[in-house]
Amino acid sequence: MAGTLYLVPTPIGNLGDLTDRCREALASADFIAAEDTRVTRKLLAHLNLRQPMVSYYEHNKIESGVRILARLQSGETCALVTDAGTPAISDPGEDLVRLCAGAGVPVVSLPGPCALITALTVSGQPTGRFTFEGFLSVNRKNRRAHLESLRGETRTMVFYEAPHKLLDTLQDMQAVFGGERALSLCRELTKLHEEVMRTTLDDALRYYQAQAPRGEYVLVIHGAEPLEEPPISLDDGVAQVLAQLAQGQRLKDAVRAVAQATGLSRNELYDAALSAREA
Ligand code: SAM
Repeated sequence: MAGTLYLVPTPIGNLGDLTDRCREALASADFIAAEDTRVTRKLLAHLNLRQPMVSYYEHNKIESGVRILARLQSGETCALVTDAGTPAISDPGEDLVRLCAGAGVPVVSLPGPCALITALTVSGQPTGRFTFEGFLSVNRKNRRAHLESLRGETRTMVFYEAPHKLLDTLQDMQAVFGGERALSLCRELTKLHEEVMRTTLDDALRYYQAQAPRGEYVLVIHGAEPLEEPPISLDDGVAQVLAQLAQGQRLKDAVRAVAQATGLSRNELYDAALSAREA
């Protein structure tokens, strides 16, 4: 019988955020697949664990993935971890999950630290509907094209960003979304210098033009205001009433239905439809 692949989130700053269940999954795994074994070794030392490790990262994920799958199929249990946070979210893991799930190997995702959710929930921006955009490209043209595709996006948008790219990103966002757009810059979450700046793109740019960005950032941007539906004209309303009359509706019923659907005044619609019918 195949073993199980466990996706194990690790702290994004505060070591106290590793759950008991994640510790148990690390302790009982036959081996750990780690993005950077040096980083994970420190975490294991903190937990007094000495599990064998293999590396699984962006540039070896194909060969390493095949080897991990073979071990899982032979009955071993694997815990997948990345340097910090939840595997498969802007981190290696997505391909391994697909490979294992496709081969019928059980995959279990353990809940735990994730920069995206930590930032979204503390941002103060609407959380009901959001879109996660990960990292923007380092290539200016591609970055602008990505942002342009979000110009009319009404959901809250979440981006990961590195400090050395922050200023360029804020400038491009200001150009596309406008300087008045609200955002929350969530920095160094769960760490000593955790900071959440709830501001606008204009003010964020002014601030970071005066001082260099430091640490890891998640940007949570308010969505665009929804475009208002253009109000329907009386003529269009009358055309809808006449169409319903042609289908055998009574004038009074057709007027009531169209007035309800469009917000037009029932009396005005009735008089106009009456004249149009008699014309
Ligand atoms: N898979 C991880 C997760 O979902 O938490 C994210 C990994 S991604 C390679 C790293 C990015 O996550 C950073 O560049 C930053 O944008 C964000 N991040 C990670 N830790 C953070 C923290 N403590 N505070 C703010 N952002 C953080």
